[in-house]
Amino acid sequence: MTNFVCAECKKQFENCLYWFDSLYFEKFEKREIKPFCGPKCVKEWHERNNVKDWAPRKAPYPKGPEWQMITHLHPAMFQSKN
Ligand SMILES: [Zn+2]
Repeated sequence: MTNFVCAECKKQFENCLYWFDSLYFEKFEKREIKPFCGPKCVKEWHERNNVKDWAPRKAPYPKGPEWQMITHLHPAMFQSKN
């Protein structure tokens, strides 16, 4: 079975509960989703990239298939990138 690969520690894991979504930050023109294996990696990745300094995207959010709200990540969403 294909698993997620953590964007921070590169560990493979199942059931992604934490991810970064470029929908919520103004500086991204493209949708980017980064899966994380747990809160520790989320925190480390955010600190390393200074995410706290990124301007949040204001409504209205971009529209179209690329920008749909995601409530559950599936490994198939990453197959094209791996
Ligand atoms: Zn990790």
